[in-house]
Amino acid sequence: MASTENNIPKIVVVGGGAGGLELVTLLGRKLGKKGKAEVTLIDSTHTHIWKPLLHEVAAGTLDSHEDELEYLGQAMCSGFRFRLGKMDGLDRANKQISVAPTYNNKGLEIIPRRQFEYDYLVISVGSVSHDFGVKGVAENCFFLDTTTQAEAFQSQLLEAYLRAHTQGKPLDEGQLDIAIVGAGATGIELSAQLHEVSHLLTAYGLDEVKPTDVKISIIEAADRVLPGLPENLSAATEKELAKLGVQVCTNERVIEVTENAILTESGKTISAAIKVWAAGIKAPDFLKDIDGLETNWINQLVVKQTLQTTLDDDIYAIGDCCACKWEGGEAENVPPRAQAAHQMATLTYKSIKQRMAGKDIPEYAYHDYGSLVSLGKYSTVGNMMGSLSKGSLMIEGSMARIMYLSLYKMHQVALFGLFRVGMLSLSHLFRRSVHPKIKLH
Ligand SMILES: Cc1cc2nc3c(=O)[nH]c(=O)nc-3n(C[C@H](O)[C@H](O)[C@H](O)COP(=O)(O)OP(=O)(O)OC[C@H]3O[C@@H](n4cnc5c(N)ncnc54)[C@H](O)[C@@H]3O)c2cc1C
Repeated sequence: MASTENNIPKIVVVGGGAGGLELVTLLGRKLGKKGKAEVTLIDSTHTHIWKPLLHEVAAGTLDSHEDELEYLGQAMCSGFRFRLGKMDGLDRANKQISVAPTYNNKGLEIIPRRQFEYDYLVISVGSVSHDFGVKGVAENCFFLDTTTQAEAFQSQLLEAYLRAHTQGKPLDEGQLDIAIVGAGATGIELSAQLHEVSHLLTAYGLDEVKPTDVKISIIEAADRVLPGLPENLSAATEKELAKLGVQVCTNERVIEVTENAILTESGKTISAAIKVWAAGIKAPDFLKDIDGLETNWINQLVVKQTLQTTLDDDIYAIGDCCACKWEGGEAENVPPRAQAAHQMATLTYKSIKQRMAGKDIPEYAYHDYGSLVSLGKYSTVGNMMGSLSKGSLMIEGSMARIMYLSLYKMHQVALFGLFRVGMLSLSHLFRRSVHPKIKLH
């Protein structure tokens, strides 16, 4: 055992996202604070923002700095240690992980390469977009995997608007057109947010550009939007998108992205100045066969129903970066969703606690409570699953909106507790009454 000098186990969680941060907060409060374990979170960034909010950051309807959480602050309040850095290696024989050096923006090394020992390791590093090797995607598309990428999109959008507003001549063909590849929840939600933004920016004074100057297209290889969700949801969503004037191109497989256009297998060319890739996910590349662990074709660590990796019981993987069988489910594996990451975090906490007490460990069964897709201020659609709805029940409008918002509130409650989330929500309401509805710089 790599236990500390006081002979308490070392628990290392890598990745403080939707799953990892909830887990480390639980472990810290229940074990770290009581001196029963040394709990450490390692993340490659200083701050956490709940990933399902990234399309709002990209559109500018959410200022990431208002909603971000500082890991060091959370660590101090919750009984765990935070260490900044990007995991890039694993030594199972010596029960150590390796974390790459950290550099500042001038390229100077500020933190050297480090090793961290563990008794229990939880890998929760999420996922990144998968370009499936399509030519030109990496060079010409924006991605929404991180806050930095979402902010880069937002500043490019604003720059394009400012240029168009001040150029003193009519807009060139397609100058502000936006194409989104992938009609999953991310692509759909982003398109609705961008439609709202095109109206807001005109209202906030960039009025040489009219909302109709911005054409938004979604390109999807499957035969319907939201291909992973029930068909009635897809139909309702397509109807809403049509009302917003978002052009939906289904059955179109993208074969190349150029500086100004998206080319599809059927021979279509969709011109767009701004292009976003939201067409699929994979776990980060460094996980591929890491120190002999079993991984699948999208680099996910294959786990047993206990969420332990198949070849090493002391290493757990949770959230988007794991491949966990969905017994009796609609897909082979548990889908990469925030609700799955949340459930897995709770189970892993119980599992580690039970193991420390020498007891049997629980197995994970995914509970799909349904899916919700927000079309910004226009609508929210979704389906509710489970005993309450006796199967799958489609919901729309305010009810769906409340449920959509409650997903984020649940994450916040896991991190801050009910009372502080109440206070936060109140302060958010006050802030909204004095700030513009969109980030304007
Ligand atoms: C725009 C968008 C909208 C979405 N909307 C929804 C939705 O409405 N509902 C839903 O259920 N799901 C939604 N999702 C999916 C959801 O965000 C993910 O399923 C969920 O965040 C996965 O949680 P996670 O803990 O596995 O990873 P993440 O939340 O992605 O966290 C991963 C963490 O690991 C860190 N990290 C990565 N690599 C390393 C490394 N090498 N070393 C150290 N740290 C590392 C990252 O900095 C990050 O903090 C959406 C996703 C996107 C992009």
